[in-house]
Amino acid sequence: MVCNSETRYMKSMVIGAHVSTSGGIHNSIKNGDALQCDAIQIFLANPNRWESKPPTIDVVEKFCAAWEDSPIRDVIAHDIHLSNLASPKQEVLDKSRVQFKQMMELSQQTGIHYIVTHLGAHLGEGEEFGLKMLSDSFDLLFETAEAPDVMVLLETTAGQGTNLGYCFEHLRDVIGMSKYPDRFRVCLDTCHVFAAGYDIRTEEDCDTTFNKFDEIIGLERLKAFHINDAKSEYQSRVDRHEHIGEGNIGITAFAYILNDSRFAETPLIIETPNMNTMHGKNLKTLRGLIKDN
Ligand SMILES: [Zn+2]
Ligand SMILES: [Zn+2]
Repeated sequence: MVCNSETRYMKSMVIGAHVSTSGGIHNSIKNGDALQCDAIQIFLANPNRWESKPPTIDVVEKFCAAWEDSPIRDVIAHDIHLSNLASPKQEVLDKSRVQFKQMMELSQQTGIHYIVTHLGAHLGEGEEFGLKMLSDSFDLLFETAEAPDVMVLLETTAGQGTNLGYCFEHLRDVIGMSKYPDRFRVCLDTCHVFAAGYDIRTEEDCDTTFNKFDEIIGLERLKAFHINDAKSEYQSRVDRHEHIGEGNIGITAFAYILNDSRFAETPLIIETPNMNTMHGKNLKTLRGLIKDN
């Protein structure tokens, strides 16, 4: 069974949040609707465990029915935290590939088209090694998973430790090395790029950063934003999210993105802490930044 996830209506911007699936993935739709989200992001499995019980057919059907009845346009899945598809350690690599394949197949069944993933860590083997391993992992997954409609959204990272993905060239290279470049799109996390050294604090900085993105990756590949302010400092390579307008990025970058017609169809997903109490406030702040014209 496959849900119908075609566009149901168009709005000026597609604004949403990462929401809980507690009690079953179908509950994510209710949680997104309560926040009036146009798009949501969810974990399809416990992000801190290698193995999770897959949802029953009943839960998958409930999810599809709830989505069908909801104004939510996009549902995006996020990879688990343990995953490292670039790992030089065979055991971790194998486990990461097995769980990613399951996630792709579940996405296919539920009508989810995009899975967001970080680029993993090379753990001392070097960036070239890690990027090649990652690209090989995806080639294998695209060849073996029964998920022809599922695409991978490579997410820009802050670059902590030996994490890959802190520069746009890394994403370009993984896509470039793949036998299946058409299966990749990109998710830009505002907190991560800022921590990695792409400034977005002023409109000029935003112009520069998006021009670089366009030159290196291509804006046509940008299919989602993670809209997070940063508790971490500029160029710190530290990944700490902060509520919108309360961090080191500040409100200008968010106003820029929300009023740029190039991003009108691109889901903007909030991933800041204390989602139960703070998502509502952050979404209101974002919606308030859209200028009428
Ligand atoms: Zn993110
Ligand atoms: Zn983050």
